[in-house]
Amino acid sequence: MKKYRIETNCVQAGYSPKNGEPRVLPINASTTFRYDSSENMAKLFSLEAEGHFYSRLQNPTSDAVAAKIAALEGGEYAMLTSSGQAAVLFSVLNICESGDHLVSSSAVYGGTYNLFAVTLKKMGIDVTFIDPDSDSETIRGAFRKNTKLLYGETISNPTLVVLDVERYAGIAHEFGVPLIVDNTFATPINCRPIEWGADIVVHSTTKYMEGHASTIGGAIVDSGNFDWMAYPERYPGLTQPDESYHGKVYARDFGKKAYITKAVCHLMRDLGATPSPFDAFLLNHGLESLHLRMARHCSNALAVAEYLENDPRISWVNYCGLKSSKYYPLTRKYLPNGSCGVVSFGVKGGREAATRFMDSLELAAIVTHVADARTCVIHPASTTQSQLTEEQLAASGISSDLIRLSVGIENVEDIIEDIDQALSQASGDPACPPPVIKKAPYNG
Ligand SMILES: *Cc1c(COP(=O)(O)O)cnc(C)c1O
Repeated sequence: MKKYRIETNCVQAGYSPKNGEPRVLPINASTTFRYDSSENMAKLFSLEAEGHFYSRLQNPTSDAVAAKIAALEGGEYAMLTSSGQAAVLFSVLNICESGDHLVSSSAVYGGTYNLFAVTLKKMGIDVTFIDPDSDSETIRGAFRKNTKLLYGETISNPTLVVLDVERYAGIAHEFGVPLIVDNTFATPINCRPIEWGADIVVHSTTKYMEGHASTIGGAIVDSGNFDWMAYPERYPGLTQPDESYHGKVYARDFGKKAYITKAVCHLMRDLGATPSPFDAFLLNHGLESLHLRMARHCSNALAVAEYLENDPRISWVNYCGLKSSKYYPLTRKYLPNGSCGVVSFGVKGGREAATRFMDSLELAAIVTHVADARTCVIHPASTTQSQLTEEQLAASGISSDLIRLSVGIENVEDIIEDIDQALSQASGDPACPPPVIKKAPYNG
C-alpha cells in the first residue's frame, strides 16, 4: 500500500471501505459478532485466527481508530483505552509486576505522578523519579537490576519541560529496557518519538487528539522495535508460554505485534478499560482535523506567549516555543514545526492578582481541562493544587501566581484582547495601552 503523508493519514488512515460500504467509519454498536461455526469461534479464542468476538477486547470502530493512531505515530500496532490514565497504567503493567522497578522523569502529568508514586507502589512496583534535565550519569545511576522501563513525557503537563527523547532512548537501550513516552501534548503532528528511538508511545486522546473536550480516551502505540526475546528473563510475560492462551509465546508467535496483543489479551480481558465505539467515532472525527488544529493552536500560543513576554504586568512566561525558554534548543530539535498550545505565566501581584485576572476573563473560560478548541485557564494554586502549602507549591514548580492558559483555535486577536482587558482589571490600571498583536507565523 502507498505510504501517505501525515496529513493524509489524519483524514484517511485506518479505514478503507470496500465496494458499497459506508464511506464514513461506522459506529459498530455491537458487543458481539456472529460466526458460522463453533470452530471459527474456537480459533478466535485460542488466537489462531484474527477477528472480533467480544467488544471488551476488540471492536471494528475502535480498531480502525487505533490503526489510524499507529499510522500517525509511525508505529506497528496500537490499541485504544477508555482514558489516558488507563493507557499509562496498561503500558506499565504489560511488562511490570510486583517486585519490579521503573525509572520516570519527575516532570509528568499529576495523575501519572500519583499513579506511579502511590498506586503502583501499593501494587509492589517501585518508581524512581529523576529530574528530566539530569545528566546521563545521574539517570544511569537510578537503574537497578529489576528496572523494566524508562518513562517520560515529550512536553510535560503542566510544566512544559521538553524531554531529550533521543538521549533517553539511548540510556534505556544501554540497560536493555524500552523507553515509554507520553506524547499527549506534542501529538504526532509535532513530534513522533518513535523516530527518535522511543519504543512505546502513550496518549491521553482526551486532549488535542479528540480536541473538542467531548470524550475521555487513551491509546497505546508500539513501535514493534524492542526485541523482547533478547531479554527472556526480564520479560517473562512476553517470552514464556502463556498457559491461559494455549501456551502461546507472545514475542515468538506475534512478532512485532507481541506487546499490544498481550495488553489486549491480558490486561483488557482482565481489567476491562474499554472505550465505547461511540467515543472512538468521536475521536476519529477529531483526528481528521488534528493537523489543521495543531498548527493553529501553536501559532496562537506563540503569539500569546510573545505578547505576554512583552507586557509589563506579567512577571514571567513559560512556553517551550519561546526563544527565551530554557528548552528552546530541545524544542528546535524535537518540535521544529510547533510544540503545543499551553502557556503558563505569572501575573504581577501574586495570588490575588492572578485570581482577579482569571475572574475578569470573558472569552477564556475557567475549566479543569487543557488542549481543546476553546481557550481555557486554570489557577492551580487555588484549585488542583489548593491542598498544598506555599512551600509544597514551590517544591513542585508551581508558584502561587501561576496561571495555566490553554490557547484554543479562536481568532488570536480576540484571545489577546481578552487577556489584555483582564490584565487591566487585575492590575487596576485601565490606562494601559492597547495590545500590540504580533502575528508571527510559527515555524520554529
Ligand atoms: C490528561 C493527561 C493524562 C490522563 O489522561 P485522561 O484521559 O484524563 O485519563 C495523561 N497524560 C497526560 C500528559 C495528560 O495530559
